[in-house]
Amino acid sequence: MTVMLRNDDMLSETEVQAARVDLAASFRWFARLGMHEAVANHLSVAVSKDGSKFLMNPRGRHFSRVRASELLLLDSADQATLKRSDAPDPTAWFIHGRLHALLPEARCVMHLHPTYTTALAGLDDSTMYPIDQNTMRFYGRVATDPDFGGMALANEEGDRLAGVMGTKPILMMGNHGVTVTGPSIAAAFDEMVYFERAAQTLMIAYASGRKLRVAPDDVARLTAKQWLDYPHLADDHLAEVKAILDREAPDYRQ
Ligand SMILES: [Zn+2]
Repeated sequence: MTVMLRNDDMLSETEVQAARVDLAASFRWFARLGMHEAVANHLSVAVSKDGSKFLMNPRGRHFSRVRASELLLLDSADQATLKRSDAPDPTAWFIHGRLHALLPEARCVMHLHPTYTTALAGLDDSTMYPIDQNTMRFYGRVATDPDFGGMALANEEGDRLAGVMGTKPILMMGNHGVTVTGPSIAAAFDEMVYFERAAQTLMIAYASGRKLRVAPDDVARLTAKQWLDYPHLADDHLAEVKAILDREAPDYRQ
């Protein structure tokens, strides 16, 4: 007879199921926006209060086909994870597992290589200069890692990235891409979409060859705060995305 141990640290079954659906919707939408790289890149969400247990995409699944039920439930303390028959992608395991373990307040961790963000990450100066409302949203909220050292294949890389990130919600990864964290899936999803949009605007402005009109610090700081204080934006965003998927691709919930 199997004894079911109750784990007081875990979120409720209803909460975990809701997280599965929200994360699956995020994969589908990043695919539609062209922000994915087929079966690479990863999104994860903590499902225990200490952040040690989390959901993440299964290895080898295209973003456009991810379903709620197939998201892997992983434990960052489980050393045998990479030996599982359904083992996750090793680079994702080493980064997301350590970020969730070290940053329990960052409930959701999204790592992508979207085109414009990655182009900005390839510049000598990857600063998201405040030149419009979207770029101003990220003023003072981005840590930059200039020390890309190849693909992450050890815990040390996740630990190093958590250290560089510190208390910032977003990590611009030089020569690589971006990692966004948030207190919820909706929050991280919204940040990621807007970060890529902001990078697109900045890169197109750079491509003009003309001098940027960089906003003064106080204006950029005020606008960033206004974004953070604006009610319901992230939740409304993901709710609409799910409403569209419910009509056009409802299997993401399965
Ligand atoms: Zn990457």
